[in-house]
Amino acid sequence: MARKHRPQQRSPLPRALFFDEKADRIRSCESKDAHPSYEVARAHALSNGMGDVLNAYECTYCGQWHLTRRREQAGR
Ligand SMILES: [Zn+2]
Repeated sequence: MARKHRPQQRSPLPRALFFDEKADRIRSCESKDAHPSYEVARAHALSNGMGDVLNAYECTYCGQWHLTRRREQAGR
């Protein structure tokens, strides 16, 4: 038990942040259907019988609305 945990807070990795942003963009935007408004996104979820499962959120990348499972995004 000689090893100690290395603190990881003091080692920012710009490359990792850049990569993560790109991955996040694909995960939360490019891989999903985009809807022009909250109402349209909600209607799409309801038409699939997923109204209780999916949340609509305004995308920071494309400015449109995507659907996500509620467990992924807590809050309202
Ligand atoms: Zn988007």
